[in-house]
Amino acid sequence: MRSLFKPETAVIKGIKAQTPDTATYTLAFADAKKQSDYSFRPGQFNMLTILGIGEAPISISSPVDERLTFDHTIRRVGNLTKAMSSLQEGDTVGIRGPYGNGWPVEEMRGKNILLIAGGIGLAPLRPVIQQVARHRRDFGSLEILYGARTPADGMFSDEYAGWRGVSDTKLWLTVDQVPDGNRWDHDVGLVTDLVEDRMESKPQNTVVVMCGPEIMMKFVVKALLARGFKPGQIYVSLERRMECGVAKCGHCQMGPIYVCKDGPVFNYAEIKDLPEEVL
Ligand SMILES: Cc1cc2nc3c(=O)[nH]c(=O)nc-3n(C[C@H](O)[C@H](O)[C@H](O)COP(=O)(O)OP(=O)(O)OC[C@H]3O[C@@H](n4cnc5c(N)ncnc54)[C@H](O)[C@@H]3O)c2cc1C
Repeated sequence: MRSLFKPETAVIKGIKAQTPDTATYTLAFADAKKQSDYSFRPGQFNMLTILGIGEAPISISSPVDERLTFDHTIRRVGNLTKAMSSLQEGDTVGIRGPYGNGWPVEEMRGKNILLIAGGIGLAPLRPVIQQVARHRRDFGSLEILYGARTPADGMFSDEYAGWRGVSDTKLWLTVDQVPDGNRWDHDVGLVTDLVEDRMESKPQNTVVVMCGPEIMMKFVVKALLARGFKPGQIYVSLERRMECGVAKCGHCQMGPIYVCKDGPVFNYAEIKDLPEEVL
């Protein structure tokens, strides 16, 4: 029997720089059958291994109906992600997954979607945007609020025009600051400012999906509740240190909840009263 923890070899088919410290890696399993059998839900993640370096959870950032390859968008922050940034097309990594629950796509059908992201948090939400774009009639309006540190830190920036072109879709962008010499035609401020000043979504018939730094999500949740959204309408994706990815090691445990298996996506109503204050 194959070990639960044994990764499968995947080959880097393409690398696309997103920002100075982030790139999207397009991967395919070396075993063609494994690749054709592989499927995942938006918001799920893989455990990615580089031999001799380590393993980390990384969200799948490509559309669910792309079957020949899958993408990981990775920011260089520590050992594994730095090692990843030195790899090239044709190099291999280990992958096991997909893990986690993913976004509640079934519940989102027929509803308006308010999608809120900060920084690399747009990576696990990109498959939601792609799913809405490819199956437009299955969903109501789509409004995207996205914040990055500077204009150069915006992920997937070459896709924004396409997203804006999807019917009944709005995209609002903000950055914390605009360095001298940068051109920026959008907002400057926090994502919460977009909620205050730009957001058009109303609570009725809307599902909110959100991923970003926890401090951002904490204040955005507050702002949404103040505008009449109910905790049960809000889904957040949480990040915790993980070792196994399959609820065996306890690294990502929060009270009774394992973020790797019960999450990483949680309904805010489920987590708001946990003893460990989450958001
Ligand atoms: C479900 C999920 C999905 C994710 N998706 C993505 C994604 O799509 N793209 C992406 O780039 N990242 C993603 N991450 C984050 C990524 O897994 C982490 O940043 C991972 O730690 C990177 O590994 P590393 O070896 O490069 O960095 P590490 O060496 O683990 O260091 C990363 C950061 O964590 C700090 N750190 C190190 N050890 C500890 C510790 N014991 N406790 C607290 N902090 C510590 C370091 O100082 C550093 O700032 C995801 C995480 C989760 C849980």
